[in-house]
Amino acid sequence: MMSPSNLLSKSRIAVLGYGSQGRAHALNLRDSGLDVVVGLRRDGPTWKRASSEGFKVAEPAAAVKSADLVAVLTPDMVQPELYKDAIEPNLKPGAALLFAHGFNIHFGQIKPRVDIDVVMVAPKGPGALVRSEYERGRGVPCLYAVAQDASGHAQERAKAYADGIGGARAMLIATDFKEETETDLFGEQAVLCGGVSELVTKGFETLTEAGYQPEIAYYEVMHELKLIVDLFYEGGLTRMLQFVSETAQYGDFVSGARVVDAGVKARMKDVLSEIQNGTFAKNWTAEYAAGLPNYQRHKQADLEHPIERVGAALRARMPWLQPDAPKIANPMHRTALARQFTSTHSIPAHAVAPEEALIRN
Ligand code: NAD
Ligand code: MG
Repeated sequence: MMSPSNLLSKSRIAVLGYGSQGRAHALNLRDSGLDVVVGLRRDGPTWKRASSEGFKVAEPAAAVKSADLVAVLTPDMVQPELYKDAIEPNLKPGAALLFAHGFNIHFGQIKPRVDIDVVMVAPKGPGALVRSEYERGRGVPCLYAVAQDASGHAQERAKAYADGIGGARAMLIATDFKEETETDLFGEQAVLCGGVSELVTKGFETLTEAGYQPEIAYYEVMHELKLIVDLFYEGGLTRMLQFVSETAQYGDFVSGARVVDAGVKARMKDVLSEIQNGTFAKNWTAEYAAGLPNYQRHKQADLEHPIERVGAALRARMPWLQPDAPKIANPMHRTALARQFTSTHSIPAHAVAPEEALIRN
């Protein structure tokens, strides 16, 4: 029986983009014995890196011309133009087009040629993990889906690709473009990026407005979030409940659902509806086309939130958070620093600039 990756063994794969996903996919596919060319703009930021890592690198149009499967791993918002300019006119008849996120196909931003396969392989992890797990002989679970099956083998092609990047060593979950796109957008908006950041900043504001020190508020509502998230990641609610005190558990039971109440869930449903009915995609593509005015304004407000100032100052005093921080050469300095720490109860946010990391000589 043919193993899935054999299906691509005679294929040339063009990976467009060499960022988080593109680099990991290209390296894993190559190490799986497949023929990979990387497609990038010659003046783009990652051309040098891909060529120094031993890849054939070509402009997107040329890479596409030679390929039997094209993996579109550029940022989502540049994909429609890339498709029109470089892919559509150059893609071989019967080739396959592969995405790692369903946005552009599902919301009709790309209308693919009818003679090609259109598939998705979406690793459930960042590119660095897709690569490091592969190197350990393991893999990151992947979603896979077929939007268009012109060859009659679209699904096998998707699975062969997932095999090539190591995903099949872990788990492949069948989905469709609609489910992947809508759940991905909902997760990042309501819970992961939008939800958590609002929960944290509102908690910080509540404590500081009540007169508590911002340094202490930062530790309570942002820094310690990592401990809880790690417990979720390792073992879900069960593990969190095993590791926090009875007081913390009781507080969770009586207060959690008062803060995040039925009104929050009702508004989560509104957010989901706007994703499902295309309102979010329409607004976001218009915002992008207009040069991101609202996006920039919101981003600036986040960057200027008081929690960011105090956070930068405190993180500068936590050297384990800075793997690239210079080593302290003189151990005497370390002692002096430790003494300074234990004698300082509160570091006012304005007293320590983030660039003053570690120690002043
Ligand atoms: P990225 O921003 O890390 O990398 C983008 C790459 O595309 C860079 O090499 C950049 O130079 C290149 N690029 C930009 N514009 C280009 C153009 N016009 N022509 C050619 N190359 C161009 O992107 P990413 O985070 O790897 O995302 C790629 C895809 O993977 C997206 O569809 C994204 O939704 C999906 N995805 C990402 C993750 C993740 O963890 N980052 C996870 C799952 C799926
Ligand atoms: Mg926010």
